[in-house]
Amino acid sequence: MRSYIVPIGVRLLLAICCTLVGGCAMQKGRNTLPAKQQLVVDQLVVHSDFHLPKNHRLIRELTSRRNEISKILDIPTSDESIHVFLFDDEAHFQAFMERAHPEFPGRRAFFVKSDNSLNVYAYWGPRVGDDLRHEVTHGYLHSVIPNLPIWLDEGLAEYFEIKRGKQGLNGPHIYSLSNRLRRSDWRPDLARLEALRDAAELNQQDYAESWLWVHFLLSGGEKTQKLLQNQMKQLIRLGVADSMAKAVAESIPDCEAKLIAHLEQLEGKSSQPNSSRPVGAIENSEGAF
Ligand SMILES: [Zn+2]
Repeated sequence: MRSYIVPIGVRLLLAICCTLVGGCAMQKGRNTLPAKQQLVVDQLVVHSDFHLPKNHRLIRELTSRRNEISKILDIPTSDESIHVFLFDDEAHFQAFMERAHPEFPGRRAFFVKSDNSLNVYAYWGPRVGDDLRHEVTHGYLHSVIPNLPIWLDEGLAEYFEIKRGKQGLNGPHIYSLSNRLRRSDWRPDLARLEALRDAAELNQQDYAESWLWVHFLLSGGEKTQKLLQNQMKQLIRLGVADSMAKAVAESIPDCEAKLIAHLEQLEGKSSQPNSSRPVGAIENSEGAF
């Protein structure tokens, strides 16, 4: 939906992604981090003030996603802890965020990466599954890839936030892009996405298009999947990568037309839009403030 650069007064890498909260009315509540329970499962350390069973299906899904991401993208896993601060309700979450990060926009969940920690902040609510799958995906990716381009970071998080068994199909994105295409309001342009450096530049359409490119590449067979995997390998090895737009254009003739055909095919599979989940992201570089 919208992304922001958040000034933090210390050397800090941030990668924050989030969901708009409904309305601005915030109840005042406890404003400290949840700390009564600390559940350690593989790479995740889940902090909460309520009991969360270790074998809760959401926890199981989040931990298994680590290996799925590793396998699909052909990247290693890390053992760096991802701290998930899971607030018991929205009021508690908002009260903490207002106190600890008043400069952050109003959102439903955040991923924050600093030099020495990977933190997810979210609250237990109706969308907690989507939120955690999305933000924890950022955590898994950032624990092994230091410098992920913003379009790819968000495209992958949007893909992997979808529940298991749905092949990464994001109904709202399909609906939104298809409508824009019919209105001649959008054409795919990976080079434009790739040129976005500042997360504040990404809008909801950019999130949707980033997701679509990721879905297209991961669904197109070994050759297109390899393009994405090669990009990840370069990023891990060098911290930078060659242009993905150029690689895709060279390997897939008429790639934009094929992307649109892919979208049309997905639209046939996705009969109705799911409830929309606008998201935003923050990514900024070290020492910029
Ligand atoms: Zn995100």
